[in-house]
Amino acid sequence: MVEPEEKATIRFQSFAEAISSLEKLTKIESKIAVAIENSRVPWKESRKLLKCMNSGQVSNTTLFQFMRELFFQVGLGKLEIFDVGRFQLTFQIKECEIIKLYPSTEKGKICFVTSDAILKFFVKDLDLPCTVEETKCIVDGNDCCEFKVELQPLGVYKIALDDLDSALIEELMNSKFDMKKFAEENFLEEGEVEYRLDVLKSYQIIDSDSHLTEIGSTYKKFAQGLRTLEEDFDPPWKSLAEITSAIAAKNSFAEAMRETLNPEPFIKVDTSEIVDLMDEARKSKSFAELISKYVKHTE
Ligand SMILES: [Zn+2]
Repeated sequence: MVEPEEKATIRFQSFAEAISSLEKLTKIESKIAVAIENSRVPWKESRKLLKCMNSGQVSNTTLFQFMRELFFQVGLGKLEIFDVGRFQLTFQIKECEIIKLYPSTEKGKICFVTSDAILKFFVKDLDLPCTVEETKCIVDGNDCCEFKVELQPLGVYKIALDDLDSALIEELMNSKFDMKKFAEENFLEEGEVEYRLDVLKSYQIIDSDSHLTEIGSTYKKFAQGLRTLEEDFDPPWKSLAEITSAIAAKNSFAEAMRETLNPEPFIKVDTSEIVDLMDEARKSKSFAELISKYVKHTE
């Protein structure tokens, strides 16, 4: 997680530069909020990502491609998947847009906006509790900004396995497991059964001899209850066009304010009235008294 003191060290050259950066950051943050709000992903799609064994497989999932598009659209740059481990994903951004918003003299890991966006996407859209940390930043002389996602194991177990995996676990508890028979009965290729066994091993549900582990037997106890929590709905990439226009339409608070204020005519100020009021203020004992005098004065 990002420490608050890291955020406080940023030094801008001028007030105008600080305001301009703040405005751009606010705009990106409001776009992120819109993107996250409209991108809930069904478990069946998150599951495909969680079963990936390497970064190449992750790159090929529709979910990752959607995430990359979403992050690009909100203005965070091009997200790449660098590494995948059990309960861990490492993302990189080579052309980071966030670092451009800070003075070039900046040092440290400053892309907390990106870390936060990844965190929100995983927690709110994928239903995967996690922590996200920026482990490398371009401003520190690295060739990319790098973000490490540590997934909470319970959250992963909740989503990662489907009904067929549960059936497979059930079958493995039977001492005479027959891969060919299981494949035939479930209309699967033997290769897919092998892949599923590898996934179960990587999640320590079964050991290298395909025997159920302690984690596996705990999982089996709760698996049935977890299944009932699963909701089926369309993945967000089916409505990518709507999400894209919602993101594009999102202006920053500052811009929205300017748009509202611009058509307003300038208010003519009568300077004599100000002088009067100042004079009254000097003579008045309290703010209430001053107001009452002013109200009488303008009636
Ligand atoms: Zn960075």
